[in-house]
Amino acid sequence: MFERVVVLGAGVAGLAASWAAAQRGAQLRLFDGGVGASCLNPGAIDDRPWDEVARSLEVLGQSAKAGPLPDAVRVFVNDLGAWALPEAGQRLMRLCTVSGRVRVARGADRGLLDLSRLSRGARVLVPRVGRAEWNADLLAKGLTHDAFSQSLGMTFEAVDADLLKHGHEGRVSPADLALAHDDPERRSWLCARLGEVLQRAGRADALLLGPWLGLDTAKAPDVSERLGLPVGEALDQVGTVAGLRFEAARERLLGTLDLAIEPARATRVHRDGAELLVDLDHGERVVTDAVVLATGGLVAGGIIYDPPERDATTGLAPSGRAPFMLSVEVPDAVLQARGRPLRVVGSMQGPSLDESAWPIDADPGLLEAVGVRTDGLTIGPQIFCAGDVVADKPRTTLQAAYLGLIAGAAAAGEPGAIAS
Ligand SMILES: Cc1cc2nc3c(=O)[nH]c(=O)nc-3n(C[C@H](O)[C@H](O)[C@H](O)COP(=O)(O)OP(=O)(O)OC[C@H]3O[C@@H](n4cnc5c(N)ncnc54)[C@H](O)[C@@H]3O)c2cc1C
Repeated sequence: MFERVVVLGAGVAGLAASWAAAQRGAQLRLFDGGVGASCLNPGAIDDRPWDEVARSLEVLGQSAKAGPLPDAVRVFVNDLGAWALPEAGQRLMRLCTVSGRVRVARGADRGLLDLSRLSRGARVLVPRVGRAEWNADLLAKGLTHDAFSQSLGMTFEAVDADLLKHGHEGRVSPADLALAHDDPERRSWLCARLGEVLQRAGRADALLLGPWLGLDTAKAPDVSERLGLPVGEALDQVGTVAGLRFEAARERLLGTLDLAIEPARATRVHRDGAELLVDLDHGERVVTDAVVLATGGLVAGGIIYDPPERDATTGLAPSGRAPFMLSVEVPDAVLQARGRPLRVVGSMQGPSLDESAWPIDADPGLLEAVGVRTDGLTIGPQIFCAGDVVADKPRTTLQAAYLGLIAGAAAAGEPGAIAS
């Protein structure tokens, strides 16, 4: 049993690891160096890469049913309270992207509209709102022509609406508008305006809005209940409201564990006999029994793209080396991609990213594959690893949660406590 556990990184993996270790009585410290993928993800929650799921459904003609998830993942997600996940055997979610396509997902932030709950022939209203990120007419046209909507005779219709209360609301960020709807009074005002839209429009089965319905928690369920029909948001692009809602949910969950994120970047993990030492960028040295490395991939800066030509002046780099490095020095850590350690493939000018970075069929591309080589989730004695920083694992939210739970339990001295 390791009593003291340090978790590096507070994305989904680090949060899940902290949750699992705290439940096993570990004394925890959780450090995070900034924003990562979990805070930039617009709100779709997958176990496997969604395009792979969509392709399988198309090719094999399988029904779009949710598969089972490990119990621990379900309990963790439930405690977090930010995401909706259909039960095993229920239909997979169908989300509307702001670019006018419908995509499949294993789950989603609670604010997003799930088309899988609507019946054949459903009519979805898309209110016109004067904001740069929202073109209701174009969106409605794209969504109506999507193959999923066509197969169910689902239509999307842009309708006039007056949902901005103040002139500046057309210009503020989506997060600011979402924050306004945390206020119950403002939400009542919104419901009244949406009620008018529904009255004018006649029959409607759902309302699709932008990512504006609550920042602290998703307020779409409340608005839906008040209006008596599903109201939800479209899936936005990088780094918007769902990420901020994840941050708020994370803070609440950590509060229940009596834990707070300590804002610091780890620079080095090293050993001193049976103990581990973690050096932080502000100079502190933490002594611990176990470390969970959940520092994320390239998006989070947990893995850094550092090609050797950076050292070149007018000619070639002075020597070849691996083009990636970890944000923190960790004993025994070896980076690998597609099953090959990067020290073997070190070169003078780094990889040809135009050839290797992009996903092709089942290959996610170099930038999504690169990570730390692990034995199980262990890098070395007392050092565990989870989430996007692990090499060659799907970079999805539920995968990060699952690996985090396993690593957290193992760091607290209960390896194998989390069943698959
Ligand atoms: C734009 C975008 C869209 C996505 N879409 C989907 C999707 O549709 N479905 C899906 O399932 N998944 C999606 N993902 C992937 C999913 O969000 C990630 O797989 C998951 O959040 C990874 O969690 P993590 O905890 O491993 O890493 P992260 O959330 O990246 O967390 C790592 C944390 O470690 C911190 N850190 C890094 N180095 C250090 C250090 N040295 N010391 C201390 N802290 C450090 C970082 O600041 C960061 O906060 C998306 C990701 C992005 C970016």
